Amino acid sequence: MTRDVKVAIIGAGQAGLSMSWLLGERGIDHVVLERETPCHDWVSRRWESFCLVTPNHQCRLPGWSYDGPDPEGFMLRDEVVAWLAAYRESFHPPVHQGVEVTRLDAGFRLETSGGPVEADQVVIATGGYHVPRFPVLPLEVTQLHSARYRSAADLPAGDVLVVGSGQSGVQIAEDLHLAGRRVHLAVGTAPRAARRYRGHDTITWLEQMGHYARSAAELGNERGHDRANHYMTGRRPSHDVDLRAFAADGMVLHGRLLGVEAGRLRFGDDLAANLDHADAVAASIKASIDDFIDARGIDAPTEPAYVPGWQPPGGGSSLEEASLGAVVWATGFRRDDGWNRLPAFDGGGFPVHERGVSAVPGLYWLGLPWQHTWGSGRFAGVADDAAYLAEVIGARTLVGA
Ligand SMILES: Cc1cc2nc3c(=O)[nH]c(=O)nc-3n(C[C@H](O)[C@H](O)[C@H](O)COP(=O)(O)OP(=O)(O)OC[C@H]3O[C@@H](n4cnc5c(N)ncnc54)[C@H](O)[C@@H]3O)c2cc1C
Repeated sequence: MTRDVKVAIIGAGQAGLSMSWLLGERGIDHVVLERETPCHDWVSRRWESFCLVTPNHQCRLPGWSYDGPDPEGFMLRDEVVAWLAAYRESFHPPVHQGVEVTRLDAGFRLETSGGPVEADQVVIATGGYHVPRFPVLPLEVTQLHSARYRSAADLPAGDVLVVGSGQSGVQIAEDLHLAGRRVHLAVGTAPRAARRYRGHDTITWLEQMGHYARSAAELGNERGHDRANHYMTGRRPSHDVDLRAFAADGMVLHGRLLGVEAGRLRFGDDLAANLDHADAVAASIKASIDDFIDARGIDAPTEPAYVPGWQPPGGGSSLEEASLGAVVWATGFRRDDGWNRLPAFDGGGFPVHERGVSAVPGLYWLGLPWQHTWGSGRFAGVADDAAYLAEVIGARTLVGA
């Protein structure tokens, strides 16, 4: 493939497809270069029981919104995959799959596994979750990252340690627990939110309150890309992720994993503080919903206050490696932009941009976590960000860049 195009979009996840839909609507010549298959992350990097954490009503892409029977429900993995496949079918984006961009230089010149491409403008829509991040510990036991976890049945017999209590960690811990495995969970500082409160999903309330319209800049951006999300689950039937309840039901909670010595894993003494912190954040979100309901005079049912049940014993803890069948690292991802040779990054390697528009004329990002709002790296906000970029790209196309 040797091609000159107006716009090259790198990545055919929901962000790249959204950009393609909007450029197509404007009649702007473009290609979408995808090293795997479109939306393959939803197919190949999610566990079998995976379901969205965000409600279906937030699944809104350009020209394509969830219109099923359960707007406050949560699509299962395969339902998300089918919904995205139907989106592609609806407009046939010019995706070249199996084409990896291996180098991006000024100009713009792209080296790809399918041959060179020259583009006037480039949109990088490669997602925010590139390389699984986890420490190398001297463990003999089977270790895998959350991106490779599929189901309890795939893990060797024995206890399972899940490290990390962000959204993936708590959902995988629950999945293993429900499958009858004895689970150890190393709990970090991630906050939590109730699933439902006073008659609605918490996310529905927060959306009505305008919370998700607030920009990263408005929020000081210290809440940016590296912050752990509030943990919650969309698993049916609807329920809170209450780690104290899991503990009362047999899950073994630990503080932060500190390391391993002579076959024993050691955990910090921060479990109580981490559970209290998560509860305090959940309570503060409920309080802000109460204020909103009062201020608007909304007729909503009341709920009794949450009472923390199980309390951890004080101090740190340890665990014999020999008792474990596997360790699942739910410790996040890091970016990999090694193929991008443009001066578009800060000293820490993070993209420098203003609402997705980089300092390199004609170069854009789409789908970065917190690119503009909470929803930027999610279904909720990518359409707005893509529409903003489509305006900028369209204007630049008109002046003949
Ligand atoms: C475990 C997990 C759960 C999530 N749950 C939710 C949820 O409940 N609700 C929600 O709204 N969001 C959720 N998200 C966040 C977000 O919606 C997904 O990460 C989504 O996949 C992001 O879409 P994207 O198009 O920005 O990136 P991706 O889906 O990652 O797509 C990027 C594409 O770029 C391709 N690519 C990368 N590099 C190159 C290259 N050099 N050349 C060519 N192609 C390349 C990749 O193959 C990939 O297909 C979740 C994320 C994770 C990790």
